[in-house]
Amino acid sequence: MRTDDLLDVIIVGGGPAGLSAALVLGRCRRRAIVFDAGHPRNEASHALHGYLTRDGISPAEFLAIGREQLAPYDTIELRHVKVLDVEGGDCRFTATVEGGERFSARMLLLATGLVDELPQVEGFRQFYGVTAHSCPYCDAWEHRDQPLAVLRCNKEAADLALELLLWSKDVILCTDGALECDPDVLACMKRNGVRVIDRPIARLEGSGNRLERIRFRDGSELARAALFFSPGQHQRSHLAEQLGCGFCQDDGCVQCGENAATSVPGVYAAGNASRGVQLVIAAAAEGMQAAFAINTALLEADAARGEVLETAVAGAK
Ligand SMILES: Cc1cc2nc3c(=O)[nH]c(=O)nc-3n(C[C@H](O)[C@H](O)[C@H](O)COP(=O)(O)OP(=O)(O)OC[C@H]3O[C@@H](n4cnc5c(N)ncnc54)[C@H](O)[C@@H]3O)c2cc1C
Repeated sequence: MRTDDLLDVIIVGGGPAGLSAALVLGRCRRRAIVFDAGHPRNEASHALHGYLTRDGISPAEFLAIGREQLAPYDTIELRHVKVLDVEGGDCRFTATVEGGERFSARMLLLATGLVDELPQVEGFRQFYGVTAHSCPYCDAWEHRDQPLAVLRCNKEAADLALELLLWSKDVILCTDGALECDPDVLACMKRNGVRVIDRPIARLEGSGNRLERIRFRDGSELARAALFFSPGQHQRSHLAEQLGCGFCQDDGCVQCGENAATSVPGVYAAGNASRGVQLVIAAAAEGMQAAFAINTALLEADAARGEVLETAVAGAK
């Protein structure tokens, strides 16, 4: 695509949400470009679970198949580059990418994802994505009936510990020395058989990416096969903020209506950047819904001006 073309849609983010949107838009013969910086949220994970037909696939292979399936759609282009900023509005958005090229489109889809804030415990990175996880729906089944730990002791960690009892009866909450739970939350855990250890943690130990034990600062150890944690999160990209989109107060997600439209006309958001279930299949579905809404909005705008054929690929031939 040439930089002076006015495209239909710029999609920022080539994870499940962005690629799924591109597939729908390609099938509608919309001219769209997907920019992807190549850091999907689950890049540390070895296997993607819970996606019907793809359960257990590697996340990188999942995305490679997605990109490959876009190849027949000649109005879609994928670029492996970061979008530095986007300006404009009123049906003309211009994105500047790393290297300085600029691309313009009538609509913008932000499928830019989230970043998880990881525990600052020595050794954590060694196990992250294989035996240290944030999402029980994604990874707890692989650790069923194993001794599990949950890190920290705030309300979210306590909820996670209770939830993990669905997979294992041996769940221990390791507060790392900081008890941030109300007494009634602690009582609830006790009632349900979750033990609490409040000694400060020195490091995680194991072999390769297999966690074997938690070592405490007093020298004692706790044998565990996996640990879970409830991460803080923030937007991976500043673009929604730069464009003036509204955010949800409680979780910092880009605020969207039912049709994935943000508070800024012409700007849509999908996947983990917006609110919803944070799973790959949900992100792909949200990308599809956003593409549907964008295509409908383009069609309505063109129909009102009698320009549907003028703007369609079919009309240009
Ligand atoms: C360790 C881990 C394991 C997980 N396991 C599972 C699992 O087993 N099953 C499951 O269903 N879910 C799992 N998830 C959740 C899953 O990763 C997310 O639901 C999914 O990735 C969200 O898709 P997305 O398209 O919204 O965002 P992402 O996959 O994060 O993709 C966003 C993309 O946008 C790009 N981007 C951001 N800003 C820019 C920019 N300015 N310019 C260009 N590109 C940009 C990023 O680099 C990234 O490639 C896991 C998450 C983690 C952290």
